[in-house]
Amino acid sequence: MGKQFVKEITSMNEDFPQWYTDVVKKADLVDYSSVRGSMIIRPYGYALWENIKSALDQKIKETGHENVYMPLFIPESLLQKEKDHIEGFAPEVAWVTHGGEDELAERLCVRPTSEVLFGEHYKNIIHSYRDLPKLYNQWSNVVRWEKTTRPFLRTLEFLWQEGHTCHATDEEALEETVKMLEVYADICENLLAIPVVKGKKTEKEKFAGAKLTYTIESLMHDGKALQSGTSHHLGDGFAKAFGIQFTDQDGKEQYVQQTSWGFTTRIIGAMIMVHGDDRGLVIPPKVAPKQVMIVPIAQHKGGVLDFAYDLKEKLSKVARVDIDASDKKPGWKFNEYEMKGVPIRLEVGPKDIEKGQVVLARRDTGEKMVTPLENLEETIVQLLEKVQTSLYNKAKEHRNEHTYEAYTYEEFKQIFNEKQGFVKAMWCGNQACEEKIKEDTSVTSRCMPFDETAIAKACVCCKEEAQHLVYWAKAY
Ligand code: AMP
Repeated sequence: MGKQFVKEITSMNEDFPQWYTDVVKKADLVDYSSVRGSMIIRPYGYALWENIKSALDQKIKETGHENVYMPLFIPESLLQKEKDHIEGFAPEVAWVTHGGEDELAERLCVRPTSEVLFGEHYKNIIHSYRDLPKLYNQWSNVVRWEKTTRPFLRTLEFLWQEGHTCHATDEEALEETVKMLEVYADICENLLAIPVVKGKKTEKEKFAGAKLTYTIESLMHDGKALQSGTSHHLGDGFAKAFGIQFTDQDGKEQYVQQTSWGFTTRIIGAMIMVHGDDRGLVIPPKVAPKQVMIVPIAQHKGGVLDFAYDLKEKLSKVARVDIDASDKKPGWKFNEYEMKGVPIRLEVGPKDIEKGQVVLARRDTGEKMVTPLENLEETIVQLLEKVQTSLYNKAKEHRNEHTYEAYTYEEFKQIFNEKQGFVKAMWCGNQACEEKIKEDTSVTSRCMPFDETAIAKACVCCKEEAQHLVYWAKAY
């Protein structure tokens, strides 16, 4: 059955990066553009982003934020204002030097992130405690001149939302930072069926210019980790650099406390690498552009197409349903929609119509079910929910099976020599150990989890007294 088609996707176990590249191309998610590291997001890929965007946008608004839009360009002098920020971003910045034939008096950077643009604006619009909190969010594209790139996971230009907020106190800003991390975790776990570890980044890994960075980390099918969303407490660093001050209730001038948080098209890459298999994409129903694909069998026979279209209309009330009534063979269609990860295939032919039934096939398990037409809407809704839950459980099981503990440096190195995954190990808090581990093993600290229950007393690297439990992994 259509083996030829499937053959075009490299097997995951043979070559995981090649499998990934095959899937994003063959499932029509992206096409390469003529600029290295930039991708064309095709309609099927963009529909995924639209579903993610609309669910996240709703949550951003429910938590009291307003959408705004900032300019694409940042004058060099503005970017220079916060020292740590520019140091961190300088190697990744793209510059505009000319307007037409004329050299610009001042170079403009294409935004890699918009802290400084918001900083300049907030200075102008915040004056009193009555102006706080300011809870802004922007949906946009940003550009970071990455050295190595991969569709969705790391591109030169990517789509994202960036939240930027100002608060009167440190506690409020901290609360906001955690709240938005929880929103990201919710989108990952409940919409995309991707389990995450929530935690804090080490000083070395935190955002350039932040006081602290929270992150959600997920584990891909090949055992590598992916930073899937970050939320930063910026403290008053940008406020001091930009002079964002307000008069408090006692008439005293104070600097605001800020946060920023971002979630990007990278998450589509995570969804592919967490759920996909050798036949292609497996899309969780809640985010799937098409949840049910109807494939008519022997559609030239009288009544089959009419029946299939009626079914589509009926089921469209409860799910996102499409029909492929093209003249391609059913076998081709089966493979095509398996590769595209459509959660449920519905087959209907003359015999099914006679018997008052259809055949449902689950993409995630391959299970086929002869199903009566009676209460079909209900059956579909329940099946979609079941698939969603089962994908999450499977991903969680995989993550748990690939999460290890290391107590000595030998153990730590041995684990990464033999396999991939998260390794939980204690750390003294010194950057020197983090750097040594990275140099010896190319493993990085992913986060200090919120649940910081110690598993030992000594640092896994230097054996000195441990300060934190850390999740370590090789990462994308
Ligand atoms: P940051 O503003 O550096 O905290 O980045 C916010 C989020 O963007 C990170 O948590 C990553 O998940 C994601 N990200 C960073 N660089 C890229 C990139 N080149 N392409 C896609 N997503 C990215």
